[in-house]
Amino acid sequence: MRDLVYYFPRAYDNRTNLKKIAELRGDEYVVLKGSIMNISAPPTRTGLKMIKANVTDGTGNLEIVWFQRPYLRNSLKLGEEYIFIGKVKRGYTFQIVNPEFKLYKGQMKTGEILPIYSLIKDITQNWLRKILKEILKETKEIFRENIPEEVIKKYKLLGREEALQEIHFPSNERKLEEAKRRFAIEELLILEMGILQRRFEVDLLNKKKYNISGKKEIVTRYLSELPFSLTLAQKKVITSIYKDINDGKIINSLIQGDVGSGKTIVAVVLLLYMAENGYQGVLMAPTEILATQHYLNIHKELNNLGIRVELLTGSIKGTKRKKILEELENGDIDIVIGTHAIIEDNVKFKNLGLIIIDEQHRFGVLQRKKLRDKGVIANLIVMSATPIPRSLALSIYGDLDVAIIDELPPGRKPIKTKWIGDNNDEKKMYSFIEEQLKAGRQAYFVASLIEESEKLIVKSAEELYKEVIDRFPNYKVGILHGKMKNKEKDEVMDRFKNKEIDILVSTLVIEVGVNVPNASIMVISNAERFGLSTLHQLRGRVGRGEHQSYCFLLSLTKNDDSSARLRVLEETEDGFKIAEEDLRLRKAGEIFGTKQSGLSDLKFVDIVHDVKTIQLVKDICTEYLKKNNGIIKNEVLALEIKRKISY
Ligand code: ADP
Ligand code: MG
Repeated sequence: MRDLVYYFPRAYDNRTNLKKIAELRGDEYVVLKGSIMNISAPPTRTGLKMIKANVTDGTGNLEIVWFQRPYLRNSLKLGEEYIFIGKVKRGYTFQIVNPEFKLYKGQMKTGEILPIYSLIKDITQNWLRKILKEILKETKEIFRENIPEEVIKKYKLLGREEALQEIHFPSNERKLEEAKRRFAIEELLILEMGILQRRFEVDLLNKKKYNISGKKEIVTRYLSELPFSLTLAQKKVITSIYKDINDGKIINSLIQGDVGSGKTIVAVVLLLYMAENGYQGVLMAPTEILATQHYLNIHKELNNLGIRVELLTGSIKGTKRKKILEELENGDIDIVIGTHAIIEDNVKFKNLGLIIIDEQHRFGVLQRKKLRDKGVIANLIVMSATPIPRSLALSIYGDLDVAIIDELPPGRKPIKTKWIGDNNDEKKMYSFIEEQLKAGRQAYFVASLIEESEKLIVKSAEELYKEVIDRFPNYKVGILHGKMKNKEKDEVMDRFKNKEIDILVSTLVIEVGVNVPNASIMVISNAERFGLSTLHQLRGRVGRGEHQSYCFLLSLTKNDDSSARLRVLEETEDGFKIAEEDLRLRKAGEIFGTKQSGLSDLKFVDIVHDVKTIQLVKDICTEYLKKNNGIIKNEVLALEIKRKISY
C-alpha cells in the first residue's frame, strides 16, 4: 500500500496551465492543447504502421506520431482541439511519439489538475487514478505523520495525509508545490536525521569546553623556517580554525584540498598550535606508508622546536610500543602520527586535544567516533583530496564544517595527461619515458584494478613488473603491493625516494599522499577500470617538483563511455569538476563509499543540485536533535530511519 501511495505522478494534466508550443525546449514531459491540421500515414522502412499529425496551438507547430494504431487516421478529427500528453523530443522539429490524447471539450472544471502516472504494462491511467483515489480515502490511519509536529508547524509544511492527497489530486498549483516540497523534505529528513543522530551520539554538546592561551611562538618559528610561505588559501583555513579554537568551539571540520594543495602543512601548523598550548594531537593516515612518510617529513623540524613527535603503527611492537603508549598517557609525547593502530583501546592520552585524519574517506563514522572518545576535547579535522560537491559534503558529512584549500602552491606546472588508445601511441609513450628516465626522472606504473580479489591484483602487478623490466633493461625497477610486509613496503618506498629505484610498479597502494618530487611520469594500465577521482588522485603523485610531469592513461578498449571519461581527465585538473563528472557518470553512493547511506536512491531530491533543500533539512535536523537531546520522538520517523539506514 505504501509503495502504491508513494508512486507519485510524473506529470499533471492541468488545463488551466497548458504548455505553449512556442515555449517547448525538448526532452520534457508536457500537456498541451492543439488542433490537428493534417493527418497522414506515410510508409516506413521497417513496415511499422505510422500515423503522423501536424498540430498547432497558434504559437507554433508540432509533429505527433503514433505507431501501430492505423485506425487513428479515421478517428482523429481535423480542426478539432485535442489535449496531448507525452514527452517532447527535439529533432529538426518538435515531436511527440505515442502521446496520450483526448478531445478537448473546454468544459473541464476550472483548475482541475489530474495526475499522470508512468504506466506499467496493462495498467491504465484511469485505473491508477481510481484506485489511488480510493486508497487515499480509506487508509488515512496507515499513513501517520512521519515529520515531527514542531517541524511541520515551524516550516509550514503540509501534513502527510494532506500532502499525499495533494500530490495525487492537487486542488491547485500552489498546493501541489507545497506537497512536492513536503516530500522532498520528508525524504531528506529520514536520511539526514539518521546520519545526524549518529553523529549526535558523539555528544558534541556535552564535551568539556576548553581554554587556550593563544600562544603562537613555536608556530611562528616553524613557519619562518619553511622554505616557502603559505598560500593564501592555506592561511585562510588555518586562521579560521585558530579562531574557532580560541573561541572554545568544538572543531568539527572537513578540509578539502586538491592533491598537492598542501594540506599536510596545514595539519602540522594546527597540531603545533595545540601542542604549544598544552594539548596533545594525533595525525592519522590510512596506510603505514603515508604515516611513515608524514613522520619522516616532519619529526626532525618539530623535535628541534622542542615538540615530541612519535610514530605509532601496527608494525611498531614490543618494548618500543610499550614505551610510546606510556609516554602518550603521561603526556611526554606531544604529537603522534600513525595508522588505525592509534584507535586501539589500549592507546590512552593525557590530554588529547586535536585529531586530524588525513584522506578521510578511508575512515568510517564509527572509527571516527572511537578516536574522538579518546579526547579531552573532541576536536576533529578530516582532510580529503577527493573533492566532494558541496551538496554531498553537506549531506554525507552532515555535521562537518567544510573548509576548502582552493589554490595550489605557486609554480606548479600542469600535468600533461594523455589517453593512450592504440599500440602506436603506446610505442611512442615508451620511448618518451625512456628519454625522461635518461634525463634523471622517475616513473610510476600502476597495475590495473581487478575488483574481485587482492590476489589477482598482486598478480597483475607482478606481471606488469616483469613487463617493465623487459622494456627498460637499463633501469632499476621496484614493486609495491598490498600483500607485502610493511617493512618491505617502506624499504621500497625509501629506495624510490632516494632514487635507488627508477621505476616503481605498484597497485593502488600509492593512491594517496605519497610524495616523491622527482617522479614525473605516471602510467596507469587499464585506466578505464578506475573511477575518475581515483585516476585524479593517482595523477596527483606526479607534478610535485620542478619538472614538467606526465600522466598516461592506458586504455586500449574501444568503448565510447570509457573514452569519454578519460577525456575529462585530459581536459581538466580541477578536482571538483572531475568529482562532479564522476558523480554524473556513476551513482553518488558508489563513489564516496556510502552505498549504505541511501544517498543513491533519493527520488525527490537531486543530490547534486538541491543544495538549498539539503541545507534546510540539515538545519531542521540539527535543531530538532539539540532540542530533543538526540532522541527522535516521532515513532513513525524513528521506524522509517531504521529501515533506511542500517550501518
Ligand atoms: P596534499 O594536499 O596533497 O596533502 P602536500 O601537503 O603533500 O599536499 O603538499 C605537496 C607539496 O607541496 C609538498 O612537497 C609540500 O612541501 C609543498 N607545499 C605545501 N605548501 C606549499 C606552499 N605554500 N608553497 C610551496 N610548496 C608547498
Ligand atoms: Mg596529503
